[in-house]
Amino acid sequence: SLVTNEVNVVQLRELDKKHVFHPVTSLKQHQENGPTLIIKEGKGIHVTDVNGKQYIDGLSSLWNVNVGHGREELAEVAKEQMTQLAYSSSFQGMSHEPAIRLAEKIASLTPGDLNVSFFTSGGSESNDSAFKIARHYWKLKGKPERNKIVAMKRGYHGITIGATSATGIEQFQNMATAQAPGFVHATTRFNTNCELGDRTDPDFAGSFRGVIEKEGPETVAAVILEPVQGAGGLFIPQDGYLQALRKLCDEYGILMITDEVITGFGRTGKMFGVDNWDVVPDLMSVAKGITSGYSQLGAVIIRESLRDELAELSGDGMFFHGFTYSGHPVACSVALKNLEIIEREDLVANAKNMETVLKKGFAYLEEKHPIFTKSRALGLMAAFELYKDRNNEIPFNPSLAVAPRFVQECTKRGLIIRPVIFEGSNTIVMAPPLTITEEQVEQMIAIFDESLTEIA
Ligand code: PLP
Repeated sequence: SLVTNEVNVVQLRELDKKHVFHPVTSLKQHQENGPTLIIKEGKGIHVTDVNGKQYIDGLSSLWNVNVGHGREELAEVAKEQMTQLAYSSSFQGMSHEPAIRLAEKIASLTPGDLNVSFFTSGGSESNDSAFKIARHYWKLKGKPERNKIVAMKRGYHGITIGATSATGIEQFQNMATAQAPGFVHATTRFNTNCELGDRTDPDFAGSFRGVIEKEGPETVAAVILEPVQGAGGLFIPQDGYLQALRKLCDEYGILMITDEVITGFGRTGKMFGVDNWDVVPDLMSVAKGITSGYSQLGAVIIRESLRDELAELSGDGMFFHGFTYSGHPVACSVALKNLEIIEREDLVANAKNMETVLKKGFAYLEEKHPIFTKSRALGLMAAFELYKDRNNEIPFNPSLAVAPRFVQECTKRGLIIRPVIFEGSNTIVMAPPLTITEEQVEQMIAIFDESLTEIA
């Protein structure tokens, strides 16, 4: 295995600077300072860097390591599967047991008749696949003009051209110099009245309903949204919102896609985000928590009735879409075992229980620190914001870099979390592994407490 000593760490930093092109990283800062952290190992909710310093992995790495690090049974199942059958294709009807068993397992967990899985290697691929399935469907129905995808401002759907085009975060959109045609955004966030048809609401024009009615419902293939917005700043819809959107889609015959890449597999204290509101979408994108990051896998889960209709409409025509790694046997075996762990250890219930502990901690921080505000949590998906004057909603001057400084203080104290800087507000997001204990949540709160004192 790789040996790390002090000499190696210096060397690793230099090699990283020279040879690694990091995603979502300031290239200039990387060239000046090298990598921010070099992580070497993980166990449970912790990761350890090459200098031996241990951290709580407060964002489950990238919202994905739901069962925590260092699970030997996941490594074992990967080894067994690699030895037996490392790879086989799913194209042209070929199959293998891991994909079959996983698809069946997913069907048993999803609501309604979301019983059919199209496998991908991650979230972006899942969303692009969902868009193509939706457009393909309308084309087969003889309505090729029904091709628009309506997404939400501040939604994050990934980085392929289709997924970026649906993403509603300026910084990512500005990178996508080849913004795909046919993507429109609702700009009003989670206003139930608008979606139910209240045209007098000042937000109406920017709502899904407002946008759809303006574009012409007969030109819209699908809407997509995250049941809880993640990367865009962590926003939880009020009760009734998703139901209202489901009604809107039914009214106009528009397909509803939910992006459960973060919210899937227990993150929000229910198996899926939509389960918080008993809504069944037509297509659901998943990735991340499906393997807890132990292998690369995603899926678009579609309603059986929709698949049946697609099959009927297609005749003998092929579905010309698929990835080499669609249904990768190792990834599928790891996913199956990961889902077994989530169920066996009742991690969905733990996420719900830990929400209560987090909220208690937030209440304490709100009381003690005048800059702490707008805390929110659903299961183990949580955030708070830092304001100069919370009563008058006056944010800190961005040049003070309050959120990044706060995050640095947390890192120093052994907690990795992430800032989201959005329209002047300084939002801190967290999503620790679903295995976290009450005591460990309290440790996080204690680190927030000290770090808030430090930056105030
Ligand atoms: N959708 C959501 C809601 C996400 O949070 C992400 C990644 O963070 C994606 C899609 C993209 O997934 P991936 O990075 O696996 O392509």
